[in-house]
Amino acid sequence: MPPPVFRFAPSPNGYLHLGHALSALLNADRAKAARGRLLLRIEDIDAARCRPEYEAAIYEGLAWLGIAWEQPVRRQSEHYGDYRTALAKFDAMGLVYPSFESRAEIAALVAAREPWPRDPDGAPLYPGNAKTMAAAECARRMAAGAPYALRLDMAAALARTGALTWEETGAGPAGETGTIVADPAAWGDVILARKETPTSYHLAVAVDDAAQGVTEVVRGRDLFHSTSVHRLLQALLGWLAPRYHHHRLILDTDGNKLSKSTLATGLRELRARGASAADLRKLAGLD
Ligand code: GLU
Repeated sequence: MPPPVFRFAPSPNGYLHLGHALSALLNADRAKAARGRLLLRIEDIDAARCRPEYEAAIYEGLAWLGIAWEQPVRRQSEHYGDYRTALAKFDAMGLVYPSFESRAEIAALVAAREPWPRDPDGAPLYPGNAKTMAAAECARRMAAGAPYALRLDMAAALARTGALTWEETGAGPAGETGTIVADPAAWGDVILARKETPTSYHLAVAVDDAAQGVTEVVRGRDLFHSTSVHRLLQALLGWLAPRYHHHRLILDTDGNKLSKSTLATGLRELRARGASAADLRKLAGLD
């Protein structure tokens, strides 16, 4: 049996905080216990928000925590070709369509139709009718250089895969654990490629987990529902599903998710105030 493959996949759009430390430490602990491999993936597709100094701080912070990861590190911004290849496969299956609306146009469409369904993150499902736009009109806009996102035709995708499940060894927000029935329809026609980037979070994660042979996904519970989309993309392309372990989140004193700008729980700040790596484990609720 090949060793299990874990990955920690932070986005360098801010400095790491205690929540990232928990995720990274859980990945490292579980990889060690299972005699597995630990990969590091830098999720830097958001060019407007990612910065080299944040990426450097990730390497520094993880090393300080005593975590060792395999080389080379996969940086998503170096793999746009892989995402384009996957998109072309979905396109060949007739599952992708362009949508031209701006955020403001989408907000106006939704406002006119309230109450309108929201996805698990609270964003309105895509309300537009780009799927039924005449091919000539679509071609005219593209030729005119109008920016567009590429969306997954959810109904057509589900018709291909049928019901999907995943194995959850952690828990979802409502305590869901064990064999989970995926519900990708809850996300509507998700974006696979953004207007400014040839991928989206969902597509890049599904492609990378498969490309890197990841067998164990250990990440925060805030991404539990995203797993439904990842399972769908994996099933469409015939990729094996990893096992999933969604872990608790560390909340601030107001009960909110930690933000990258909260100084009190920033890894660099805690370190500057004299905390040791062992203190960090305790603060994160480990040991
Ligand atoms: N890059 C994501 C984040 O920083 C994590 C993605 C994942 O683990 O699937 O929240």
